[in-house]
Amino acid sequence: MEISAAIMNVAFAKCDCCGLTEECTDEYIKRVRDRYSGRWICGLCSEAVKDELIRSDDRIGNEEALNQHMNFCKKFKSLSPPKKSTEELISAVKQLLLKSLDSPRSSPVKKLVFARPERCSPALDA
Ligand SMILES: [Zn+2]
Repeated sequence: MEISAAIMNVAFAKCDCCGLTEECTDEYIKRVRDRYSGRWICGLCSEAVKDELIRSDDRIGNEEALNQHMNFCKKFKSLSPPKKSTEELISAVKQLLLKSLDSPRSSPVKKLVFARPERCSPALDA
């Protein structure tokens, strides 16, 4: 008998950046918290944080990149009406990520999930 999802504890985790709630296993929640010093961020925000790291050319750490992204989210939330902010923030973050795909500085270490389907440089994907 295989280990099914029913055995694992599934909980709702709320993103500390954009407020999005995701259903995750305890294991996954714990891993994300370990990585971001006790904070939990959703998949989209963690992509954005990774992007901050890449764009900084390793001059900043995980923590710093997370702070930068959180500031971006906060600024965005304070600018838009609260009722649809999460939805708009998500699309703003997506735009940000998509835009950075076209930026010449951000090659060659790109592995965003929603990048174009064809892979341009698999050899660099270490
Ligand atoms: Zn988020």
